[in-house]
Amino acid sequence: MTNSTLNYDEIWGNAKEILKKKIPNSTFEPWILPIIPAKENEEYFKKGHIVLKSDKSFGVSFLNQKYFNEIQNAINEAAEENIPVNIIFVPSDTKKAPKKKEKPAEHIVLMKEQIDNLKQMHSFCALNLKYTFENFVVGDNSLVAYNAAKQVSEAPGQKFNPLFISGSVGIGKTHLMQAIGHSILKNFPDLKVKYAKTEEFTNQLVDSCQKGQESYQKMKKFRDRYRNVDVLLLDDIQFAEGKKRTEEEIFNTFDALFHLGKQIVFASDRPISSFKNTPDRLKSRYEWGLSVDILVPDFKTRVEIIEKHAKRSDFEISREVAEFLAETFDKNVRELEGAYNKVSAYASIKGIELTVDSAKEILGIGENARKITPEIIIENCAEYFNVSKKDILSTARSKEIQEARQAAIYLVREMLDASFPATGEIFNKNHTTVLYAYNKMKKDLQTNKPLQNTIEEIEKMMR
Ligand code: ADP
Ligand code: MG
Repeated sequence: MTNSTLNYDEIWGNAKEILKKKIPNSTFEPWILPIIPAKENEEYFKKGHIVLKSDKSFGVSFLNQKYFNEIQNAINEAAEENIPVNIIFVPSDTKKAPKKKEKPAEHIVLMKEQIDNLKQMHSFCALNLKYTFENFVVGDNSLVAYNAAKQVSEAPGQKFNPLFISGSVGIGKTHLMQAIGHSILKNFPDLKVKYAKTEEFTNQLVDSCQKGQESYQKMKKFRDRYRNVDVLLLDDIQFAEGKKRTEEEIFNTFDALFHLGKQIVFASDRPISSFKNTPDRLKSRYEWGLSVDILVPDFKTRVEIIEKHAKRSDFEISREVAEFLAETFDKNVRELEGAYNKVSAYASIKGIELTVDSAKEILGIGENARKITPEIIIENCAEYFNVSKKDILSTARSKEIQEARQAAIYLVREMLDASFPATGEIFNKNHTTVLYAYNKMKKDLQTNKPLQNTIEEIEKMMR
């Protein structure tokens, strides 16, 4: 016991009254209110201290970082003496969190029987049935992200909140994010899971903001959609960068969900540090929980991904062909899968055996493939934009010509690995001009879907 005539509960009760006036309600209610002081006969009791227990791990680290002094002072004031405080996380068995279903297998069977329900659930959540943990091949490149995703799915809202998954395009972010959704739906069927791409979020927001008679209702519906959930999976968050209204709504949605202990997962093609146009207060929200990065899978993992894919589609692929594909497509899993899909479909339809040679032929790689040159790239860009080759190499600045020129500069750099000075020479420009054109294109491609399609189309034309 302390020298104080009050017991720990009374001291804490008085301290809470003091804190209530000093700490914002948005912190007080979720993080201070659930705290209980350890009693003398309890496990975490520490003589001469006041040990404050909470079963909210984030709350504990948040309070320790931000409000420790306020809490210590309030305890001293309430006890009328100085008593050291410890704020600790103690997991509770009787958390409000829903219990994990003990027999998930049965649940799956049930879901399969109720296929209509499943479809409904799937479409509400907008999850792709393929993107599960079982179908995800874990490699060194994704181990940390995978483990974090698993832990989030086992204790939504309690471990890492938010979880921020970053990594380059086609690397498995969406897959992992949706795997969290599937797993939560399986283990906690009462929880509401919402998956959305930020582009969709933005479009719906714009639609809801439009003035008119139903504007209030529309906004309410929009907010219900994103706030009346237990788990929000918001994908491609880089799309929001610099879009003021969208970022503000994400910020408010985040706070509303977070304070209710709901799980939030973000995914982005770029790390948070590159979000130059995002307000700091939102960036700090993104970083509040845990940020994990998925890297490019190594060769062994890429081979495993193909083999897993083949197994699922019941296609026999030789080790040699799998290794050939893994060697050729080494930066982007989506492209790797695309190449596999193309060769396996072609071989099945044609009824031919899939060998490294036939795969090369189908993909247009190797000796028989057409050699790409700057001239071919310029020719194809000119054709796509309906301008002439001469236009591209000129200084003309009409919209089509500029677009064609930028696409050509980008492709020469990307496909031929040409240096900026060499690219400059090809296009009769100085190297800062091509550097600018290339960087602009690269940046635009991250968010501009039609532009991505354009570039893909031109690439296809050249194969
Ligand atoms: P991102 O969201 O990072 O752009 P996706 O999650 O859409 O990429 O992944 C692209 C494709 O590659 C998907 O079909 C996905 O299933 C597959 N994929 C990516 N990583 C893996 C992996 N580790 N194991 C199995 N499939 C993967
Ligand atoms: Mg994605």
